Amino acid sequence: MTDIEHAVGDEAGAGREQAGTFSTEETPAREREFPQIGAVHPQAARDVEPEVSRETSEPQAEVSRETYDPLTVPRASDFGQAAGRFDDDSTPLARAAEHTLLARHGARMRPPMARPPATRVMVVANQKGGVGKTTSTVNLAAGLAQLGQRVLVVDLDPQGNASTALNVEHHRGVPSTYDLVVDGAALDEVMAPCPDLDGVFVVPATIDLAGAEIELVSVVARESRLLRALQAHHAIGTAEQAGEGRLDYVLIDCPPSLGLLTLNALVAGAEMMIPIQAEYYALEGLGQLLETVEMVRKHLNPRLAVTTILVTMYDARTRLAAGVADEVREHFGDRVLHTTIPRSVRVSEAPSYAQTVMTYDPGSPGALSYLEAAREIAQQGATA
Ligand code: ADP
Ligand code: MG
Repeated sequence: MTDIEHAVGDEAGAGREQAGTFSTEETPAREREFPQIGAVHPQAARDVEPEVSRETSEPQAEVSRETYDPLTVPRASDFGQAAGRFDDDSTPLARAAEHTLLARHGARMRPPMARPPATRVMVVANQKGGVGKTTSTVNLAAGLAQLGQRVLVVDLDPQGNASTALNVEHHRGVPSTYDLVVDGAALDEVMAPCPDLDGVFVVPATIDLAGAEIELVSVVARESRLLRALQAHHAIGTAEQAGEGRLDYVLIDCPPSLGLLTLNALVAGAEMMIPIQAEYYALEGLGQLLETVEMVRKHLNPRLAVTTILVTMYDARTRLAAGVADEVREHFGDRVLHTTIPRSVRVSEAPSYAQTVMTYDPGSPGALSYLEAAREIAQQGATA
């Protein structure tokens, strides 16, 4: 049995395990490189995960072969003498620390990309739940910020998952999307900087937003509340209007429904991004989504266009995932980003530490893929 088969087989029996808890039974060879003594805090142990995920019973893609080149992860030796102290056969935790440090360092050294000539408002929508809308919104926001862009994330889902991942308070009473959309508060009053990511701002969602779908029904101009709020803000617009301090991107994380909140997003944005999960029923429901987009274009927002499709949770080892990706490409052509996001346990762990995977494990395949996807999006903007 190879290491991989072993790890997958192990996993199937073990079910969902805590991050950083290492099985003591029959340690596979890869793990033996990282012996653990005593209890290890999950955060400390997070960088010593074996290549194959241990968390789910499904076979996991190690990495997206299209996007991940382990050689691009910087090594201590890339940093010359200064990093020499890491070069000995040090402990696993020291090596894990080194990995994170160097990946972070690498993130900071990335050259900025050209800013778009005007704020791009992108709606991240798909009425299916669990396809990666929120994950993609927050990680692309972080990725774009690493590429020198200023990004606002509008959390339009009452669940507030994007707010959680971006480490912004969103308990009842915090100025939120509800105030913006239902009460007509100004964007400045409800926007908070993300504490961990320079250049990222968030309008958090509180549980109040759950009532908004119904409350909005009786509100004047109920489908264009978000549009008005964005239009009124001094940092949204062209370089001439909004200057150097302008926001380059507004990413709107939609709830999994086609109600008035999603409608507000579709009216407010010019671009729509649809995350599609690479699984069997991936394309189901897309027809209805595209019909809604057509209806919005006809009656409410002629600027709206589906510009970007992102294939998420891609398992490079299954033919099914490749088949779904092919079908998506057949349908949407070059609007599908070349980068696919691999299914990766790191990506799903990050929110429980109030982080994006971009800071939680910057050298992981998920983080590198989201960075690459952000680069493609910024590239679209430069040529738009
Ligand atoms: P949505 O916002 O469309 O409902 P989420 O972004 O919340 O979807 O993702 C649904 C679930 O899948 C979450 O638990 C998330 O952590 C997990 N997930 C998303 N992307 C990945 C990925 N690339 N690898 C593994 N798990 C993922
Ligand atoms: Mg979501």
